[in-house]
Amino acid sequence: MNAEILCIGTELLLGNIVNTNAAYLSEQLARLGINVYHHTVVGDNAQRLQEALQIAVNRADLVIMTGGLGPTYDDLSKETVSKYFNRQMVLHQPSFEKLQEFYALRGVKMQPNNEKQAYQPEGAVVFTNHSGTAPGIAIEEGDKIAIMLPGPPRELKLMFESEVLPYLQKFSDHIIVSRDLRLFGIGESQVETMLRDIMTGSSNPTLAPYAKEGEVMLRITASAPTEAEGYAMMQPMMEQIQPVIEPYLYGVDVPDLQTALVNYLLEHNITVATAESCTGGLISKSITDVAGCSSVYPGGVCSYSNEMKMKWLDVKKETLDAYGAVSEQTALEMAQGIRNATGADFGLSTTGIAGPGGGSEEKPVGLVYMAVAGENYQQVKKVIIRYGEQTSREMIRQRSAKHALHLLLQAVKTKE
Ligand code: ATP
Repeated sequence: MNAEILCIGTELLLGNIVNTNAAYLSEQLARLGINVYHHTVVGDNAQRLQEALQIAVNRADLVIMTGGLGPTYDDLSKETVSKYFNRQMVLHQPSFEKLQEFYALRGVKMQPNNEKQAYQPEGAVVFTNHSGTAPGIAIEEGDKIAIMLPGPPRELKLMFESEVLPYLQKFSDHIIVSRDLRLFGIGESQVETMLRDIMTGSSNPTLAPYAKEGEVMLRITASAPTEAEGYAMMQPMMEQIQPVIEPYLYGVDVPDLQTALVNYLLEHNITVATAESCTGGLISKSITDVAGCSSVYPGGVCSYSNEMKMKWLDVKKETLDAYGAVSEQTALEMAQGIRNATGADFGLSTTGIAGPGGGSEEKPVGLVYMAVAGENYQQVKKVIIRYGEQTSREMIRQRSAKHALHLLLQAVKTKE
């Protein structure tokens, strides 16, 4: 099966919003083994949508559209698509009742244009919207399928995962399963060099790298009649590559570094506290993005001035005078200081030069020290974050936060 993604919205053409729906859907379809050959974007215009749909239906088995399902006057795509497939719009009773319930719960009177959302093309499969009002639909016409999904990314994702995936699965006697191996501290090209033979020599399961924000994700994907068989097929490949990537592997099937860290802390009942200088709270934000973190993260301090470092973290004046705020010694005292102040098992700190000003030959922009302190444990790491001319303050801060989270994860693991 091959697919085309057709996104509808004048805002997309004007550059007001980025087409994240197309990226999301492409990634999801790739996981299902469906090839996406085209992405198309049209504005809220019935004629141009019809033309784009005609082209898409001619060249793809599956057309997935997003946007234009709402109640407003410019949301005319459902009618256009319905007309294209010669279907009448008919009232879909379950959608109508769900809409009534939605408005009754909010104490708002339903307007006639809201009712429009309960009308669906005759014979369409209707997908429930669990986080909004516009249902999605699938129209099957001969050997072609056209799917329409809501534009808001949150609604789209929820609907895709809970309704569309099981629907699409029905067209295949195989299911696609995958495992994601998350790596930090290694570049995509190095991963490719290390694993090239496996990547090019395997067809089921396959192995593919994806580079994302300073990290690499390796995805193993298998196609099999059942989920259990798929996982069994992936196992030998897992065992083959795991020793090669072990030093960089921080988690399997985890969404990100902070989740891997917080999960580990929760499982082992370890607490951590943070003292941040150049990352300005980014580490604290990352940790607190993970639900359930409060039982392992009492909190942290964002300490930019020397006074603050001395007063709140007990960094010695002599240390600051002798080595400066951006130094191995200060990082270590900050980590020890926050550990003592909070009583956490581990303290984590960062101090560095995020730029664009403030650098010197000895201490250039991008130089960051981070430290972890625990009972009878200390570790300091120095990184210089520089990606040519383009290195921004934002990039230095984001990458430093990741390095620090990774350092802490390694520390808590080695201590166990
Ligand atoms: P609504 O019921 O809110 O009107 P809709 O299905 O009609 O939803 P649109 O009106 O096209 O969808 O888009 C609603 C919002 O969803 C947009 O303002 C935008 O924020 C977001 N959105 C739409 N399409 C995309 C896209 N392709 N990528 C990312 N965001 C999008």
